[in-house]
Amino acid sequence: MFPRLRGHHLICLQFYRGEGYDEVFVENLERVIEDAKKRGVLVVEGVDDVCAKCPYMVNGKCKYSVNSEEEVKYLDVLALSLLNLSPGCTVSWKELKEKVFSPEVLEKWKEEACKSCDWRDVCEVGDKG
Ligand code: SF4
Repeated sequence: MFPRLRGHHLICLQFYRGEGYDEVFVENLERVIEDAKKRGVLVVEGVDDVCAKCPYMVNGKCKYSVNSEEEVKYLDVLALSLLNLSPGCTVSWKELKEKVFSPEVLEKWKEEACKSCDWRDVCEVGDKG
């Protein structure tokens, strides 16, 4: 079975460096990434295998902040549009990495998504220029 990832996680997970909300979340996230590297990813809409172990996932909605459900949905749509992927499709980690690290995708993502992200300081995206 493919690990299931929503739009913005397809990009953000490329820059993961070991931080997360709690131990359960981090262990799960690392398992998902390892699995994705081996098998590839099934692109999904909404809750994915990362959200599944997140303390902010409540009744199928992201409750990280007051507006987070709308914000993450917006980021999902933006990510899928930049990556030219749709829910239901599968993609290898290698292909995904190539897409994410194309300059157009990365620049646009940094402009639109990273600037207001709380994880900016513990994310490798800042090291990529
Ligand atoms: S903060 Fe929201 S989008 Fe991020 S993993 Fe948790 S539930 Fe999912």
